[in-house]
Amino acid sequence: MNQNYEELMSKIEKAQAFQEALSLFEWDNQTLAPKMAMDNTAKTIGLLSNEFFSVMVNDRVKELIYLLSEEKEAENLTFNQKAIVKQLKKTFDQLEKIPPAEYQAYSELTAKASSIWAKAKEEKNFDAYKDTLGEIISYQKKFASYRQTGDQKLYDILLDDFEEGFTMEMLDQFFDKMKAAIIPLVKKISEKQDFIKRDFLNQSFSVEQQKKFSKEVAAYVGFDFDKGVIAESAHPFTLNLHNKDVRITTHYLEQNLESAIFSTIHECGHGIYEMNIADELTQTPVGGGTSMGVHESQSRFFENVIGRSEAFWVPLYEKLQAAFPGQLDAVSREDFVAAMNYSKPGLIRTEADELTYSLHVLIRYEIEKMIFADQVTVEELPALWNQKYQEYLGLTPSHDGEGVLQDIHWAGGSFGYFPSYALGSAIAAQIYDYMKSKIDVEDCLVKGNLKPIEAFLKEHIHQYGATKNTKELLLAMSGEAFNSDYYIAYLTDKYTKLYQL
Ligand code: ZN
Repeated sequence: MNQNYEELMSKIEKAQAFQEALSLFEWDNQTLAPKMAMDNTAKTIGLLSNEFFSVMVNDRVKELIYLLSEEKEAENLTFNQKAIVKQLKKTFDQLEKIPPAEYQAYSELTAKASSIWAKAKEEKNFDAYKDTLGEIISYQKKFASYRQTGDQKLYDILLDDFEEGFTMEMLDQFFDKMKAAIIPLVKKISEKQDFIKRDFLNQSFSVEQQKKFSKEVAAYVGFDFDKGVIAESAHPFTLNLHNKDVRITTHYLEQNLESAIFSTIHECGHGIYEMNIADELTQTPVGGGTSMGVHESQSRFFENVIGRSEAFWVPLYEKLQAAFPGQLDAVSREDFVAAMNYSKPGLIRTEADELTYSLHVLIRYEIEKMIFADQVTVEELPALWNQKYQEYLGLTPSHDGEGVLQDIHWAGGSFGYFPSYALGSAIAAQIYDYMKSKIDVEDCLVKGNLKPIEAFLKEHIHQYGATKNTKELLLAMSGEAFNSDYYIAYLTDKYTKLYQL
């Protein structure tokens, strides 16, 4: 074993431990922590972040990383070890450029920001949040500028953090193609609004039964309850400490049966990815999913590609009917599945159907581009938001709670994150296309045997953690880099059939 590598890893283990502790606080803040805990807890989080920072960013670590990045030293490293060094070099280059005092102040700010955002959203009051948001944006601009090289654009730096190698130039092309395909489909469907019946969903569904059924579906799709838990939070999310402690949340709404079911399946997709990462990678810097886009491809694959398919419900629909006695008896499986794919423009991203979803993402992408090109001020955001919703979805929010305040992401400093949602859908469609050439996906679903599907995903995507980026994973899988044509074809085919366009 390489001595330098061993020394580096002993330091990184400590940094990982701080990171796990920070993750646990984050989980707690969003699930169980009492409202008033935040101010005091934020101090602790700030201190822990500072410790993480000093373990990670110091002269010796820098020396070791650069030494191990050199060709001669790298020769003695395994593929995984090389990937760890590469990942560390990237993180290090990012962190080293930020002065520790600024990093701590920023961590405290974002720790408080989520509760400030939540309150402002509840009160539909953007003014109560705008100064905090403004501060976060200035930090993000400053931090990105520290890493800027040549004539690199600030927003490209942020995009690269979430999806290595993806730039505004590529995303502009992707979103242009998407707009050209989706907007006409949405228009055609709007002329057939009564084609799919959904009235049967307008009833109360017992939350207790929803919890039971959601848990059953989670286990059915492959979520391992010996390595994971499900809790509740307003906005469902996945957080993992390592491959044997994967936590997801969901929410239950009495008047909305599909929300809990599909949020649960979605988060299971994220969770299963994390659970399947190889043991030798977990708790290392490459021990998580490789990018937000690939993560979303897994959650959306489970939620939309298979979860909303007719075949998926063949073994499950009677169980759903039995879970809500008398409530779905008159609804055929075909009608149920059609209703689950009903498409209509709305104001809320998280409630959007599969077809209009990416338009919500497009709006955030365009706004973020403007923020980082200094083309819009924080004060102007609500109006810009509303104007874009009118333009792309034909709707205007009646208040900021269902407008610019609806997402938590900016409160956490996540700019450049949103495009990953749309990229995820596109990557999922590309993986699905290739998967179908190797296994009979429909037959697996009809027979209620999801094992070959999970095994395929583990083989080509999950096991590698972050040792390969999106492009490398796709190339290794099918010999083709990212190609959004599969997504366009998938949506066009699905909705043309569904609405008989
Ligand atoms: Zn997700």
